[in-house]
Amino acid sequence: MIQSAAKIIFNTRVTGQAFHMGVSSSVLSRESKPGQFLTIRTGDTRDPLLRRPFSIHRVRKNQVEIFYEVVGKGSTLLSQKTR
Ligand SMILES: Cc1cc2nc3c(=O)[nH]c(=O)nc-3n(C[C@H](O)[C@H](O)[C@H](O)COP(=O)(O)OP(=O)(O)OC[C@H]3O[C@@H](n4cnc5c(N)ncnc54)[C@H](O)[C@@H]3O)c2cc1C
Repeated sequence: MIQSAAKIIFNTRVTGQAFHMGVSSSVLSRESKPGQFLTIRTGDTRDPLLRRPFSIHRVRKNQVEIFYEVVGKGSTLLSQKTR
């Protein structure tokens, strides 16, 4: 397991409650492959306590991308993140 901070490059609403997010991290992009998943700390506090898993959609250069749907607390917080 690799733990890394990542910078949000884009976090775009695709349609309805569906979002497409790209983050940059050289270590994550080097080690990640589609089919694997990231466990993301969605909040800046301890609530929600648990990280949320999101499948890796695509890896390009130093960028890792996910698609997600806003359904609850963690994904709502994620959809509001810009960096
Ligand atoms: C291996 C793995 C990979 C995943 N990959 C993705 C992904 O690529 N994209 C993605 O959007 N999500 C993915 N998920 C689901 C994601 O991890 C979260 O569970 C989801 O975002 C809900 O978290 P939340 O904190 O927003 O909602 P919570 O607050 O945890 O849940 C709120 C309510 O929504 C319900 N709920 C939880 N998940 C879903 C769901 N998916 N659809 C409908 N209702 C739900 C719960 O039962 C609860 O009633 C994946 C989960 C796993 C285990």
